[in-house]
Amino acid sequence: MELAHHNIFFNEDYKNEFDSISDGQIAKDPTLYICKQEKGLKSSSKNRFEIIINAPSLTRNKISASKEYDLCKERTFQKLSKMGIYFKNIPNSSNLITPKAFERIAPGADGSIYGLSPERLLSTFQRPSTKTKIRGLYLAGGGTHPGPGLPMAALSGKHAAEMIKRDLALI
Ligand SMILES: Cc1cc2nc3c(=O)[nH]c(=O)nc-3n(C[C@H](O)[C@H](O)[C@H](O)COP(=O)(O)OP(=O)(O)OC[C@H]3O[C@@H](n4cnc5c(N)ncnc54)[C@H](O)[C@@H]3O)c2cc1C
Repeated sequence: MELAHHNIFFNEDYKNEFDSISDGQIAKDPTLYICKQEKGLKSSSKNRFEIIINAPSLTRNKISASKEYDLCKERTFQKLSKMGIYFKNIPNSSNLITPKAFERIAPGADGSIYGLSPERLLSTFQRPSTKTKIRGLYLAGGGTHPGPGLPMAALSGKHAAEMIKRDLALI
């Protein structure tokens, strides 16, 4: 199968995936996202892929660290092979970024790739806002208010620029 730049493979039982994640597990039949990163480039010597599998947040996660890699590898590549998608090189454990690793890289979002989950009570108000307690330090991006995704990240950049201009009395 020829992959596009962005590919999403849904599952048979969508609700079941949410139930598994709520229960701290990875779904037996997970939704998979594959980004064929060099697709569309006129020339590239590289042929890289990013694969995303949904995982429970860090506080809910019941998967032991030693099993995490094997589980992700098995569920991902078994599902893909059933659809006729094979990879020449299977990633090793150092290629896997888990919620635990995300929490180390960007603390405060319970291991989530897109910032604090909106599911928690009042979590919308717990997102970092543009202005911080440190004078002259402003935040912008997908992990801050108003939320993740390119439009929201751009909007937070606009908020930060406006706030800086106001604080410097430029407007
Ligand atoms: C696979 C994938 C697909 C997505 N698809 C969509 C989509 O279809 N639509 C959508 O709206 N959103 C999508 N998103 C989400 C979107 O990409 C993010 O919400 C958005 O990019 C966040 O913007 P940002 O500026 O906060 O961070 P980023 O875009 O991650 O930018 C941060 C930049 O800072 C750099 N950086 C990091 N650390 C340092 C450092 N110490 N020194 C210097 N530079 C540093 C990084 O290299 C990077 O260039 C997707 C995300 C992923 C991962």
